[in-house]
Amino acid sequence: MVLGILVGMAFSSCDKPCILGSQQSGLCSFIGQTGLSINTFAWMGEVFLRLLKMIVVPLIFCSLVNGISHMQVNQLGKVGFITFLTFKGCMLIAAVIGLFYVNLIKPGIGFDIHSINKEAIPDLGHSLNGKHNFLLDIIPSNIFDALSSGELIQIIFFALLLGVAIVQSGKDGLNLARAFESFFKIMLKITGWIMVIAPFGVFGLIVKTVGITGLAPFVSIGKYMLVVALALSTMLFVVTPLLVFFLGGMGPLKFFSGIKEAMLTAFGTSSSAATLPVSLECVTKNLGIPSSLGSFVVTVGSSMSMNGAALYEAVVTLFLAQAYAPYIPSIDLSLKGQIFIVAMVLLSTLGTPGIPHGGLVTTTIVLKAVGLPIDAIGLIIGVDRILDMCRTMTNVTGDCAAAVIVNNILKDKDKNVDIQKLDPNNPASHA
Ligand code: ASP
Repeated sequence: MVLGILVGMAFSSCDKPCILGSQQSGLCSFIGQTGLSINTFAWMGEVFLRLLKMIVVPLIFCSLVNGISHMQVNQLGKVGFITFLTFKGCMLIAAVIGLFYVNLIKPGIGFDIHSINKEAIPDLGHSLNGKHNFLLDIIPSNIFDALSSGELIQIIFFALLLGVAIVQSGKDGLNLARAFESFFKIMLKITGWIMVIAPFGVFGLIVKTVGITGLAPFVSIGKYMLVVALALSTMLFVVTPLLVFFLGGMGPLKFFSGIKEAMLTAFGTSSSAATLPVSLECVTKNLGIPSSLGSFVVTVGSSMSMNGAALYEAVVTLFLAQAYAPYIPSIDLSLKGQIFIVAMVLLSTLGTPGIPHGGLVTTTIVLKAVGLPIDAIGLIIGVDRILDMCRTMTNVTGDCAAAVIVNNILKDKDKNVDIQKLDPNNPASHA
């Protein structure tokens, strides 16, 4: 990662002088002579990302079906309910931390909304204008369509139904449950192979991001970035370990060292969905969470638990509200207005896709609800990629923390049910 940042910075600082062919520093002329370019390294990232994308649909589909089909009938509702509460509780804390820092540092007050060149806005496709109907969008009209286009929420919905149906079918479902179990193990084997090249992939992805963006866009919007970075660090390195310790019963050192590969992959790929194979491996292998429960929480979490995105949406909305307040008097910056922002954030993050810039897309829903122009997103879009890397790391860490917490709560709550028996790798669970 560090090497990627350094090499990326070298490329971005040499970009213009190298093209003009004048005043090149020693480093730039060296780069010029060797014929190295961003693409010399970027392909490694592309290969890694493609492999992750290749494995993600079959992996999450069979991991979820396998996870659910190893639960007992009386466990299903309880696990789902506690998981959902844990997700939303953590996201609520994250959004409040974000608002706290914006209120403290006030990055939007006095910010010149005409200062940024909107032509630098990357293409987000039609998503910014798309109408969202979360409830309807969850149900696939054709599951094969959803599988082939990688609609994660729809795939999760169908996998949950299939898993529950297998459990409810008793003996009739046993063969299919076994088939999914061995399919899942084979997908994990392929994931293990992909992980071997992870360091090269993360290096390539970071060289490309830093190499293209450079450091220039960060200067004018530095205060806002500082707020996002401070708030994300507080959530990531202070609040999450406290939650993991007090609610999950696990020491922070064990937690972070167990999930470090997932955190770095999230940082490099900016995608919770692409990181999912790594998170699954970390949670089940390194943290020892039973794989049926771990698969369920982490997989559903990759679309529904977004601590970083919730925090980010709250910060962006209040920051832009501060910046636009002199021009739009109806904007409400009071406590009531901020509670409304938090409520909208919790709602909109239900539909945040775990892909690069996913949180930016759903931020537009919150902006609209608060009465801010969607165009306002142009002010922060230029620096979004780098912040996306940080919030994706927070999102993925939150998914893993939720798995630890839910596992611990279930162990405490239900002393009659031995959670280890839910583990498909544990022979006792097949009895
Ligand atoms: N990129 C994030 C993720 O995949 C979503 C976001 O933009 O916050 O988790």
